[in-house]
Amino acid sequence: MRSLPPPTDTQADVFALCLNATTAPDLQARLTAIAANLTTAGIAYQANATAASLHLIPRVQSVGAVTKSELTGLYETHLSKTKGAARAIYDRIRNSAPNNRCPLCGVGNVAHCDHHLPKSRYPDLAILPSNLVPACHFCNDKKRAKYPSTAGQQTFHPYFDQHLLVDAWVSAVLNPGPPPVLVFNATPPPTWPAINQDRVRRHFEACGLAITFTTNANDELPILRDRLVLQASRGGTAAVQQFLIDERDIHLARPNSWQYATYRTLASDAWFVNEGYLTIP
Ligand SMILES: [Zn+2]
Repeated sequence: MRSLPPPTDTQADVFALCLNATTAPDLQARLTAIAANLTTAGIAYQANATAASLHLIPRVQSVGAVTKSELTGLYETHLSKTKGAARAIYDRIRNSAPNNRCPLCGVGNVAHCDHHLPKSRYPDLAILPSNLVPACHFCNDKKRAKYPSTAGQQTFHPYFDQHLLVDAWVSAVLNPGPPPVLVFNATPPPTWPAINQDRVRRHFEACGLAITFTTNANDELPILRDRLVLQASRGGTAAVQQFLIDERDIHLARPNSWQYATYRTLASDAWFVNEGYLTIP
């Protein structure tokens, strides 16, 4: 997971472009009539996201005389569509993740904008920039139309939830096998508020992070074995241990990355350090 600065483009910017590109006079008139409603929904979203209470946002089927499909159509026709009137704003949001790294997992490459609250349930938030988050294929596909019914079901929001990334809550368990396999879990500190514990567990599950992290970490193990064999040839078990500790500390800036969880576990596993790594195929 990674936090991101919120988009600088506003819903008013997107709405004006959508309205200008709407050719049907009837729809244009009905959209104009709900402009203030969308503004109000955007303000409520900002307040609830800041207060970690997005579960309180009501799900709607229409706004005024504009239907759900017409609202989601604004997104599909003018925002996400190539050559859409507001496509430049979509691209700015999608490209806002440093190194194109998905903020929801910290592993995949960004491929889309994901509606944090799904447009199928919250069509009034379909074109709200702060409800659009860059995401990789895998996270986007796993998350689908999940939405929070309770405070604890709110997944990590990259624009508002930096505080959830300060402490380490991703953990790895080494199953010695053979072959050795790392298994990942969400294990938030018991001192955290219960809602935050639930939230990170929900995020971990909703984005399929156990799969993403396990795949990446176990793919790394054969390379790690060769590195540790080299370290052992230079300085024995002490050098192996120091290498694992150094790798752990290098990744401390991202305590919920699979890398930090991996090296934290391996550096403290006496069996692994004492030639257990030689059983990696
Ligand atoms: Zn992802």
